[in-house]
Amino acid sequence: MSRIVMKFGGTSVADIDRIRIVAARVKEETRAGNQVAVVVSAMSGTTDQLIKWATQASPLHDAREYDTVVSAGEQITAGLLAMALQDMGVSARSWLGWQVPFHTNNIHSSARIENIDTAQMIDRLEDNIVCVMAGFQGISSDNRITTLGRGGSDTSAVALAAALGADRCDIYTDVEGVYTTDPRIVPSARKLDKITYEEMLEMASLGAKILQTRSVAMAMNHGVRVQVLSSFTNTPGTLVVDEEEIVEKQVVSGIAYAKNEAKITLVGVENTPGIAGEIFGPLASGHVNVDMIVQNISEDGKKTDLTFTVPEGDVEKAVAILKASGHVKYAKLMADKEVVKISVIGVGMRSHAGVAARMFETLAEKGINIQVISTSEIKISVLIGAEYNELAVRALHTAFGLDSE
Ligand code: ADP
Ligand code: ASP
Ligand code: MG
Repeated sequence: MSRIVMKFGGTSVADIDRIRIVAARVKEETRAGNQVAVVVSAMSGTTDQLIKWATQASPLHDAREYDTVVSAGEQITAGLLAMALQDMGVSARSWLGWQVPFHTNNIHSSARIENIDTAQMIDRLEDNIVCVMAGFQGISSDNRITTLGRGGSDTSAVALAAALGADRCDIYTDVEGVYTTDPRIVPSARKLDKITYEEMLEMASLGAKILQTRSVAMAMNHGVRVQVLSSFTNTPGTLVVDEEEIVEKQVVSGIAYAKNEAKITLVGVENTPGIAGEIFGPLASGHVNVDMIVQNISEDGKKTDLTFTVPEGDVEKAVAILKASGHVKYAKLMADKEVVKISVIGVGMRSHAGVAARMFETLAEKGINIQVISTSEIKISVLIGAEYNELAVRALHTAFGLDSE
């Protein structure tokens, strides 16, 4: 007998018919003799609607009330799935974050899980009751509802699997697994049987929304066996595993893109020691996360142009901070939201040279100009004009031999 966690995303619980399909899958796992905890997302589109209402009610809303509103979608699906299971003769009950309880810090709308008290849930699981938990939500030490950031039900599921000592954490979604790139923009994308935690972490943090980044970090740290699979078909999905478990290592395993980036350029900055600190220090204090950075120094060494990226949603704040900090002298400040970051990822890059060259040549052949570059041991990212997103991803997918036959 195994203890398993099954997580169902928004499209998998989009209406009552789909909730019944999910219930049937859960029933099968109980029939096989497993103890089952289920984590559900809100019905697809619900969280977006709740966010819209919160913003309409008050553009500068109280973060605690925002979480009260946006966490509501998961309450509905947890209750409905418990009902559908009971209707099929399966003992089940719903759990909200605070009922488990799922303790988080008090950083509303992107709270981090601190600890999960699973004692009551384990008692129910041992009595063969299916525990259906609302994903995405927890409770802070001030007794307020918190949420874990968009896509946070993945993290709820992995955290619950770790806390329950589950044998498996199956993440059911609307595609058959993790692909070499987003199958919705590259139809020739290939499903991967296995991907390493590290590659999955890069893919997620570089824009592939298939799993929330924090869920992958948590799985890696706690050794949770995660499988990503479709709730609509019966085909095996993708296993997220340690590097040793991958026999045939690819140089490049996947390509990710992130549209929510913006580029800021400071032209003609006085090139004096400490200038970078004076620019990036206030941004850090304002919680603006700077990602890619490039600096060009003029021939006489007196001036420098500095380009960097920030999350699109923070661009106005970043510009305001830069304008307010009087120390930094520059000729011009430019902000551009029409950019996209494209990344190629693969653990094989550690031992293979030439990936960057092939990436740059491929983009050049398509006439795509690279604005900023950043690299790490297992990835290369470039910033390009947003209009080239699909063209670039498709061309790189072909160039690195990832297309399905
Ligand atoms: P859920 O609602 O089940 O949590 P999400 O919409 O959050 O589902 O994530 C699934 C989506 O992730 C897919 O529909 C797909 O468009 C997108 N995606 C992006 N990159 C990838 C990738 N490399 N492999 C698979 N899906 C990807
Ligand atoms: N419902 C939340 C969202 O849409 C959490 C999730 O689906 O994982 O972001
Ligand atoms: Mg998701």
